[in-house]
Amino acid sequence: MNLILLGPPGAGKGTQAKRLMDRYGIAQISTGDMLRAEVAAGTEVGREAKAVMESGQLVSDDIIVRMLGNRVDQPDCRQGFILDGFPRTVPQARALDEMLAGKNLKLDAVIELKVDDAALTERITGRYTCAKCGTGYHDTFKEPRVLGVCDVCGSGEFVRRADDSRETVIARLVAYHAQTAPIIPHYREAGLLRTVDGMAGIDSVSQQIEQALGPVTRH
Ligand code: ADP
Ligand code: ADP
Ligand code: ZN
Repeated sequence: MNLILLGPPGAGKGTQAKRLMDRYGIAQISTGDMLRAEVAAGTEVGREAKAVMESGQLVSDDIIVRMLGNRVDQPDCRQGFILDGFPRTVPQARALDEMLAGKNLKLDAVIELKVDDAALTERITGRYTCAKCGTGYHDTFKEPRVLGVCDVCGSGEFVRRADDSRETVIARLVAYHAQTAPIIPHYREAGLLRTVDGMAGIDSVSQQIEQALGPVTRH
């Protein structure tokens, strides 16, 4: 099963992608995580992307498409994959169509998480992640069971993203509405779009996604 999780920054794509990964045994492909790994490793791509990411703009389509090219050929994608944070522009959506056609693959569904801008700001500014295993948390909406200790791996070290500041959020939302939202009609016309109420709680969103995927997973 090959899916796209589409939605503005902070909508819950990463949170839901991790759950889909566990549930269906498919790989999460997060272009944001891949870019942060490049930045941390100080590669050429990382050096080019760092300032762009910190300003809340989008990294160039060329870099992203090149980066994604080989990823779906990796063994963990054999059962399928969830694209989290890609495509984010019309040219990226076109490049994806071509890439999948060339590999004889197809998309099964595009899940759109719909969330108000005000709620997104709150989600992003309260977001933090386990430094060791990457599990996501939130100051208000998803604290670990024991404060300061990761539920999954027991680590006590957490990180916040440099771009999760109130100032950068505005630029990221502008980029979403101007450059990413225009890809939605493409998938609606292809009959792939499933829109989910992302304002609901984490469990409820998972249930909605599962329901939306019902017809896909049954065959
Ligand atoms: P979020 O989880 O808030 O949606 P991501 O982790 O997906 O954010 O992305 C963080 C940043 O990385 C983006 O603001 C952008 O600068 C860059 N980025 C990630 N994916 C893409 C993409 N597909 N195209 C262009 N830039 C991207
Ligand atoms: P994205 O990958 O779309 O940027 P995340 O999955 O990182 O979004 O979620 C952003 C923040 O909001 C995280 O701190 C996460 O714990 C929290 N969160 C995710 N889904 C929900 C939800 N349905 N309700 C409340 N908070 C949520
Ligand atoms: Zn952890």
